[in-house]
Parts: sequence; C-alpha cells; structure tokens
Amino acid sequence: MTGGIGSGKTTVAAIFETLGVPVSYADTEARRLMNEDPELKEAISRHFGVEAYAEGKLNRKWVAGQVFNDPPKLELLNSLVHPATIRDGARWMQEMTGRYPYAIREAAIIFETRAAGQLDFIIGVYAPLSLRLHRILGRDHSTREAVLQRMRNQIDEDIKMRLCDAVIRNDEQEAVIPQVLSLHQRLLTLASPAHP
Ligand code: ATP
Repeated sequence: MTGGIGSGKTTVAAIFETLGVPVSYADTEARRLMNEDPELKEAISRHFGVEAYAEGKLNRKWVAGQVFNDPPKLELLNSLVHPATIRDGARWMQEMTGRYPYAIREAAIIFETRAAGQLDFIIGVYAPLSLRLHRILGRDHSTREAVLQRMRNQIDEDIKMRLCDAVIRNDEQEAVIPQVLSLHQRLLTLASPAHP
C-alpha cells in the first residue's frame, strides 16, 4: 500500500487491520532495524561515524542533523536503510502469507525503491495535494514549506496512482470503509487457491 505523504495510508491500513489483515509499516520497521539490525548498524556507524549511536541506540537527532539539507548524505543513508527494510519486509511477507490469505506492507515509497517488483498487488491511497497538506499540518509540527519539500522528493501522485492495481480514494468524495471492504473481498478472491 502506497500513497503520498498525508494521503491516509496509515489510516486506511488500520481499517484493513480491523479485518484481520496483517500490516507492516515500513517507516516503523526501518526505525526498528536501525536500532536492531547488526549489519545495518555497523554500516551506518562506518559511514557516519561512531556518534551515530549512543549506548547501542540510534542517535536520531545527530543523524537527522547530518542529513538535513545534505542530499548526497541523505541518499547515502537511504541506500543503507532501504535495502535492509525491503529485505526484512520480504521475509515478513513470506511468513505472513504462509499463515494468512494476504498481508499488507505500507510504505510511502514503493516504486522509488523498486520494492514494487516483490509485491503481487499494489494499493494506492489517493488524496489531492491541498488536502494532504492540510492533514499533515494538522498532524505534525511541520511548516508548510518543509512538507512541500518532502512531497517534491516523491514521484508525482497521478503517475504513482496509475501504476497501482487499485486505488482507494481518501479525498472526502467517497466513503473509505466501503472501498476497503470491497477491495478486501477482491484480494481474498485473488489469494484463494482457485487463483494461484
Ligand atoms: P505519512 O506518509 O506522513 O505517514 P499517511 O499517508 O500515513 O501519512 P495518515 O497519517 O494516515 O497519512 O493521515 C494523515 C492525517 O490525516 C492523520 O492525522 C489522519 O488522522 C488524517 N486523516 C487521514 N484520512 C482521513 C480522513 N478520511 N478523514 C479525516 N482525517 C483523515
């Protein structure tokens, strides 16, 4: 499941969770891996210096300061964290799909990191930019300019939605829950043994 910042991915994914579908949130997992994955921790320390960790835990403030306004450094960090997160997500997905009809990975970037190739079906969550901006400013302590800058780093929303297998409109034009229920039925059918 993907969609732009503030499109409502987490909100929509939580509805799937209430239906018993396992959901993994890439952002949360990336944060966990930066604290727990020995190889990733070693790579981050090697490239960024020992200050990146304090008592074995990621010094988030310090690392954030290092990559802030430094695109090559941010790219370097992403080049370490994304592959580890994608690998871990693939392992999780394999484990979950052995036990459940299907499972969902929620990530703001799927096409950008080529993680899309590992997934059978991509759900897009759509909301127009003005609404996304309004929601994020209501949720985070961010400035309008900082949010717009983060949005510029992601691929265009219309292009992204065209690459998805199904789109959930979270734009206040259509009720979300009926869309989730209908997609859930479709995914259960696709996951059934009659549709290998
Ligand atoms: P991010 O990419 O930043 O993690 P997201 O795509 O996961 O964002 P959410 O966190 O689900 O988006 O939603 C952004 C904000 O908008 C949240 O505060 C959420 O409660 C609110 N929101 C999302 N969908 C709706 C909706 N249909 N009605 C009202 N508020 C909503």
